[in-house]
Amino acid sequence: MINFKNITLAGSGVLGYQIAFQSAFHGYNVTVYDISDKVLEKAKGKFEGLKAAYKRDLKATEEQLQATYENLNYQSNLAEAVKDADLMIEAIPENPKIKIEFYEKLAKVAPEKTVFATNSSTLLPSQFAAHTGRPSKFLALHFANEIWKHNTAEVMGHSQTDPEVFQAIVDIDKTWMKGTGAPLGPVAILDIIGITTMYNINKNIAEQTQDPLMNNILEYLQDNFIKKNKLGVSTGEGFYSYPNPNYQKADFLK
Ligand code: NAD
Repeated sequence: MINFKNITLAGSGVLGYQIAFQSAFHGYNVTVYDISDKVLEKAKGKFEGLKAAYKRDLKATEEQLQATYENLNYQSNLAEAVKDADLMIEAIPENPKIKIEFYEKLAKVAPEKTVFATNSSTLLPSQFAAHTGRPSKFLALHFANEIWKHNTAEVMGHSQTDPEVFQAIVDIDKTWMKGTGAPLGPVAILDIIGITTMYNINKNIAEQTQDPLMNNILEYLQDNFIKKNKLGVSTGEGFYSYPNPNYQKADFLK
């Protein structure tokens, strides 16, 4: 199972410094990487501004903010910046040439374990996959501006992204619950409705629409749930295990 503890943030501009601070606030060990120590000094200054926003909007305490600062490290040497990284999030300029050069340099120095994610808003991960040296461990992880208020991200793989890597990054219910304040996410609701009912609904839609993509959903539900008797709350297991599903645990949204 992939477990992220050390995160390297490449680029400390508008989004990069926000992702770095938010990750450090949530207890990750974060290294901020940028092209020079001078730029990194500027980032340190910007963190002061974020501190005020976290106090105002999240009612963050001095202790929490102190712990956040202690989780932040700075490095302008790329090899040093990623030497322990479990996850590297790239937030450098939205310019394919700059990103390709960066990934080619990064591929030579990052440890094999490191998952690479691009925060690009408009460029596709498939544009860069070949330059990363590890297409299966590369995907897009796109955060919203003012991340502390909008604590969700869009995740997009490309054709060669390893499904295990994708799963380690994405978590649908957490995003839904945080984003909407709802007590349950859509996946938890599927377990309550029951996987067999979901299968039947999708089968009806497949017959009505003749959409070949629907067959993938039916096959997925058959192979991973129905054949294994994981029918949701009724059989004690579906997407979650019962009677104590993870989404009811106190630290689920942390
Ligand atoms: P920015 O120009 O504010 O910051 C870019 C940072 O990257 C700067 O600190 C710069 O010094 C650094 N940099 C430049 N070349 C580098 C290199 N080779 N290696 C390491 N660092 C380098 O850009 P931004 O607005 O933060 O955007 C960064 C990425 O985040 C883009 O892909 C963008 O699409 C995405 N994004 C931006 C927003 C937004 O609201 N600005 C929102 C979501 C996603």
